[in-house]
Amino acid sequence: MKICPKCGYKNKADANFCGNCQAPLNNVPITSNHHSKLIMILIGIIVILIAILLFMMGMRSNNSSNHQQATQSSSRISNNHSSASSQSSSQAPQEKFSDEEYELMAFLKLTDDNSDSNDQSNEMLQNLVNLDPNEKDNAVVWHPITNGRRIGFGAHTTELQVDGDHVNVTYDEIEGDHMGEGNGHKTYSKAELAREFELQKDDIDKALANLEASDNAKNY
Ligand SMILES: [Zn+2]
Repeated sequence: MKICPKCGYKNKADANFCGNCQAPLNNVPITSNHHSKLIMILIGIIVILIAILLFMMGMRSNNSSNHQQATQSSSRISNNHSSASSQSSSQAPQEKFSDEEYELMAFLKLTDDNSDSNDQSNEMLQNLVNLDPNEKDNAVVWHPITNGRRIGFGAHTTELQVDGDHVNVTYDEIEGDHMGEGNGHKTYSKAELAREFELQKDDIDKALANLEASDNAKNY
């Protein structure tokens, strides 16, 4: 480039007159701008470094999203596995309860079904919430059986067994003066139980803690 001797304007190397003040530049030597070349080189290096950095960050976020996808798909697989016989999607409300919770819910529903009032299960649940597990002669049974539990309060016992997306209930059906020996059968879907007892989860968990403690306090 040519720096105008008159006004200092930086003109192109092939300029004959100053672009600013029209002064002749014939005898003005061409100045190579080392400074600006250096700046250009520095900018080039910085751009390359930024490009490398962005590339590395891209690799890392790809890796972590791959990892997330892998985790998600493996949990999807285990969901599918745990509800193999379920036709419902993995986001159904019934997914948030344990089998033991469903077993107690099924018993509560049976309590309502076998009585005239729908408050019967509430009463039963409150009795279980207030149960004293340390009282040895409370005669409460909450004992593991294949795929479920047996519940009892002395005379009758009821068996609650989870099978996929539903709970099978076997109980003593009382007709007239007869006491059945597990002759009553009902099946409740997890979905209907979840809908009916969703808001009583806290009480159900308290009742289960009492039932387990009560059962553990006895020596079988
Ligand atoms: Zn000039």
